[in-house]
Amino acid sequence: MIYVAGHKSPDTDSICAAIAYAELKKKLGQDAVACRLGDINSETKFILGKWGVAIPELLENASGKQLIIVDHSETKQGPTGIENAEILEIIDHHRIGDLAPTDPSKFINKKLGATCTIIYNLYLENNQEPDKNVKALILSAILSDTWMFKSSTTANEDRAIAEKISQDLGLDMEKYAMDMFKSKTDFHEKTAEQIMKNDYKIYEFSKGKSYINAYELVAGADELVKRKDEILQEMEKMKTEYTTVMFVIVDIMGEKTHMFVLSEFENQIAQEYKIEFKDHYSELKGLVSRKKQIVPVLEKIMN
Ligand code: MN
Ligand code: MN
Repeated sequence: MIYVAGHKSPDTDSICAAIAYAELKKKLGQDAVACRLGDINSETKFILGKWGVAIPELLENASGKQLIIVDHSETKQGPTGIENAEILEIIDHHRIGDLAPTDPSKFINKKLGATCTIIYNLYLENNQEPDKNVKALILSAILSDTWMFKSSTTANEDRAIAEKISQDLGLDMEKYAMDMFKSKTDFHEKTAEQIMKNDYKIYEFSKGKSYINAYELVAGADELVKRKDEILQEMEKMKTEYTTVMFVIVDIMGEKTHMFVLSEFENQIAQEYKIEFKDHYSELKGLVSRKKQIVPVLEKIMN
């Protein structure tokens, strides 16, 4: 039996590539099974559920097994016992890591947006066609890894294959991608306090301590903005400890940024971004990076 596995904390590409490649191996008459190295995320769960594909088995230990590695080539991202496994093939689109297959010619590494793009091409090279649900998984992984072609890692081939599959399946690709991305946003189950602790950094400026929380969302940002009152209440509590409390929601698909600010420097911040705050909230055009566009502005104002 050949075990096909992606990386630890599996994403959609890792899971879908493992399933799609195990299916190709089976079509070619080999015994292969897809596996996972941890819990699947909510996006992957949505995809597998929608297309009626079973969640792969958990691979607890790879020692003594025959493995095909997809979506990475690093020992630390691989399964326990990988040192004592036989690596038959590696298929990946990241930088080359420390793992190598026994036969070096079985290492495929392409600069594409998703491992699943490579796998689709392997079907074609072997004169095979993926089953409908496998096609859907390949499409999903391409959309997921490239943020529907917005990521700089996107290649023309990713787009061409995704569009071809969408046509084959009669699927509205954009609508499907948005449903997928929304399934990934997990703020619905979180309290405002948890949301404010999502991804924060604290900066010490000469005019006071600043707390900057940034939330990057591929989709669904508007729904989070609707929880404005709750969020501002939470920020108000934090105001006792910080001179500036800022919450930034980066809306990747919408290509805009939502900004909440509680600070005695609110007016200066508005001036710098050429925006107006209404109830401590404003929208900015484009994607704002905390490191490149927020910290330098606060530094200028508060130092
Ligand atoms: Mn991955
Ligand atoms: Mn990938």
